Amino acid sequence: MNSDVILRLSGICKTFHSTDGEEIKALSNINLNIKRNEFVCIIGPSGCGKSTLLRIVAGLEEPSAGEIYLNGIPSRAPSAKKGMIFQDYSLLPWRRILDNVAFGPELKGMAKQERYRIARHYLKLVGLDKFERCFPHELSGGMKQRVAIARALANDPDLLLMDEPFGALDEQTRYLLQNELLRIWKTDQKTVLFVTHSIDEALVLSDKIIVMSTNPGTISQIIDVTLPRPRDRVNNHFARYYSKIRNLLYHEVINRQLVAG
Ligand code: ADP
Ligand code: MG
Repeated sequence: MNSDVILRLSGICKTFHSTDGEEIKALSNINLNIKRNEFVCIIGPSGCGKSTLLRIVAGLEEPSAGEIYLNGIPSRAPSAKKGMIFQDYSLLPWRRILDNVAFGPELKGMAKQERYRIARHYLKLVGLDKFERCFPHELSGGMKQRVAIARALANDPDLLLMDEPFGALDEQTRYLLQNELLRIWKTDQKTVLFVTHSIDEALVLSDKIIVMSTNPGTISQIIDVTLPRPRDRVNNHFARYYSKIRNLLYHEVINRQLVAG
């Protein structure tokens, strides 16, 4: 196996069973290689299995078939090596920001002084070092998501898994956090698997875009984005990528309506 590959998904399938016994084929035969330090976005229509795929990689859901390899080793269970960031921040409301970020190191049994040193390092990295004594409810949505990013980074994960992390934020905050995430990705040398609904967001962030189709969820196309960074949203090449992906997604939705109707 190529040692550059950090995450390999081989033949991942997932079937759910609804309460009335109906089978829902959420994912079918997902095969994917992600290289170390790559920024990969997953895009696809609602219900195509993006969250299910991310949860399977995180170890929060069992696949019905297939295997997940992290650094060449089967990896089905949750682990500090796989840091997950959700849209709703998932902070612990009764803990101060510093103790939220220090939570992972605390679980590992690290001494207080060391876990606070690590937490402060990452709070500074996301620009929140002045807020360590606040509680989550005292922060804006964008600030809470920064805390969630710092908390994931404090575990020193090999892989950052992000499920529409900026989906609930206003456009300005979203742009700001996209830039911050890119800066952190570069300085901290992380590999990121990022789910988004937004073509624009996928194009600003990724080296590679995985376009999914639905019923059952499969990978329909993988697009390498070779645009230089920082990405210019009004550039012609950007627009060309944009319309290619929009057409892929548009056909996907039309096909689905034809099947349904
Ligand atoms: P996406 O994130 O792309 O919107 P999801 O991964 O959430 O899609 O869902 C994919 C499909 O699997 C959907 O049809 C959804 O209804 C179904 N699904 C997801 N989780 C469950 C579950 N726990 N039980 C039953 N069906 C589920
Ligand atoms: Mg989802």
